[in-house]
Amino acid sequence: METIVKPDSVRRAARMPDYAGARATFSWGAARAQMSGLPDGRGLNIAHEAVDRHVAARGRTVALRVLGRDGTTTDITYAELQRRTNRFANALVALGVERGDRVFTLLPRTLDLYVAALGTLKAGCVLSPLFSAFGPEPVAERLRLGEGRVLVTTPRLYERRVRPARDTLPALQHVLLTGEPAAGPDDGEEGFTSLENVLAAVGEEFTIPPTDPEDTALLHFTSGTTGRPKGAVHVHDAVVAHHATATAALDLGADDVFWCTADPGWVTGTSYGIVAPLTHGATLLVDEGDFDAERWYAVLAEHRVTVWYTAPTALRMLAKHGADAAARHDLSALRHVASVGEPLNAEVVRWSADVLGTPVHDNWWQTETGAIMISNFAAEDIRPGSMGRPLPGIEAAVLERGPDGRALRVEGGVRELTTPDTDGELALRVGWPSLFRGYLHADERYAASFAGGWYLTGDVVRRDADGWFWFAGRADDVIKTAGHLVGPFEVESVLMSHPAVAEAAVIGKPDPMAGELVKAFVTLRPGWEPGDALHDELLAFARRRLGSVAPKELAVDPHLPHTRSGKILRRLLKARELGLPEGDLSTVETP
Ligand code: ATP
Ligand code: MG
Repeated sequence: METIVKPDSVRRAARMPDYAGARATFSWGAARAQMSGLPDGRGLNIAHEAVDRHVAARGRTVALRVLGRDGTTTDITYAELQRRTNRFANALVALGVERGDRVFTLLPRTLDLYVAALGTLKAGCVLSPLFSAFGPEPVAERLRLGEGRVLVTTPRLYERRVRPARDTLPALQHVLLTGEPAAGPDDGEEGFTSLENVLAAVGEEFTIPPTDPEDTALLHFTSGTTGRPKGAVHVHDAVVAHHATATAALDLGADDVFWCTADPGWVTGTSYGIVAPLTHGATLLVDEGDFDAERWYAVLAEHRVTVWYTAPTALRMLAKHGADAAARHDLSALRHVASVGEPLNAEVVRWSADVLGTPVHDNWWQTETGAIMISNFAAEDIRPGSMGRPLPGIEAAVLERGPDGRALRVEGGVRELTTPDTDGELALRVGWPSLFRGYLHADERYAASFAGGWYLTGDVVRRDADGWFWFAGRADDVIKTAGHLVGPFEVESVLMSHPAVAEAAVIGKPDPMAGELVKAFVTLRPGWEPGDALHDELLAFARRRLGSVAPKELAVDPHLPHTRSGKILRRLLKARELGLPEGDLSTVETP
């Protein structure tokens, strides 16, 4: 088994130096005791833990460092963030917005977004951040589904993304406009308010109302990788998990400069792109710009980022960009790199160890789980290609699957697979604070996600004899070919170990003989030309390594379809291949 061994100095310096010990002694009660709670026992509020609790001791620490698209750098201290978020909460109250009302944001990653998000939570409203690159349909659909009462956006985004469907949004009462000179609707037009004006009219003192830990805090839509996005509901108690998992899985603490590249429109960009680093009193770096290999290296170097949380696609693009680019930048401050969202192939882990000076620590979780569940850890060795082991406080199991590909329901619940290296559905024992509390308007679907005290994740994994988890694929994506079950990830990883292949996606294609036949789509690295010779070589390469489960068909595709959060959309490749309807396209990235 290939292992990347951590030096003793790294192990000792880690914030969780002893994984086994931490797992043995962990309790969520003790993790909850790490929170300060609202004064006078008035409950638990995410924004208090993220902002107000730090002001007395660390008011002058930089909470947010925002890098604008225009090249500006704006530092906001915890004290300043408290004042601004107080004002925002007061503004909501002044508008008559009530606790539990849903406040949506459709904003670029500017300071306004972070202030609105935390101010919303202070006011006891429910935050639903939308990704600003969404088109009018996905925006309207989410606002409708979530019955948004308030929307904070810019005049330009309003005109392009919201106005076309405004008539279909009866619940939307207030549109707060900010950011650019008002090129859109005038202040004074019914239902529009300039955020600046309303903020100027209120004070900067605010007392967070009593907040029950079970009060709803966040509404997050899933990525839409397998179908129509689902609205997952989370409560304030989730902050306990955001905080504890950031220590365990991201090695994060108060003295870190932390950069999470995910947009708050995805759960990662909120749980770890807003909440967790602030609960630790760290400095959170926010970059308004999009991916750009040179600039990203420069950001890591110039701002002395110590902990970096990003996604496999970005890492693959950096790797494709070449090692010289990294060598031109001083990455010596970078201590810990982690990734989530998609399987992380072993190549990238090795590349990172060489080029970034630390291997990437893959971790696994979902919108529904609210926080990292399975991870590689700073003090622990890495088995490249494995997503790691369950966090302290998390019990994970592999369940036997039925004919529909999902966990087999037997009397009294489900059946655990204890034989190592057997494929089954990943399940998590219910009971951690950031587990979602519902799918919006989909109670049956929510109920169907649980059995025998387990939350069923819909992902297929294997656990090896030492307890490490290996991702095989989505329950829907796993391929049945000639009596074998094939996880697409396994095949994709092999293809990507060929020097010509930058990215690979594998689907099952109905076949009269084999049931399904494995078909691969690949994107080539710069300098490689598609052609019969390369096509045959790649198939032969895969056959030598995979045997009978190797792809039988292969196509070179210059641009594989991705979700806007960077995940490969196998369902779309499959629909196109089979000439079927393409389904919900709201989260598809447009190249
Ligand atoms: P939808 O549920 O709408 O189809 P989605 O599942 O992609 O979309 P998210 O909640 O953003 O929405 O993503 C969670 C999923 O991403 C996981 O269930 C898993 O399939 C995949 N994933 C996350 N992290 C990893 C990882 N480290 N390795 C492999 N897959 C991962
Ligand atoms: Mg999902």
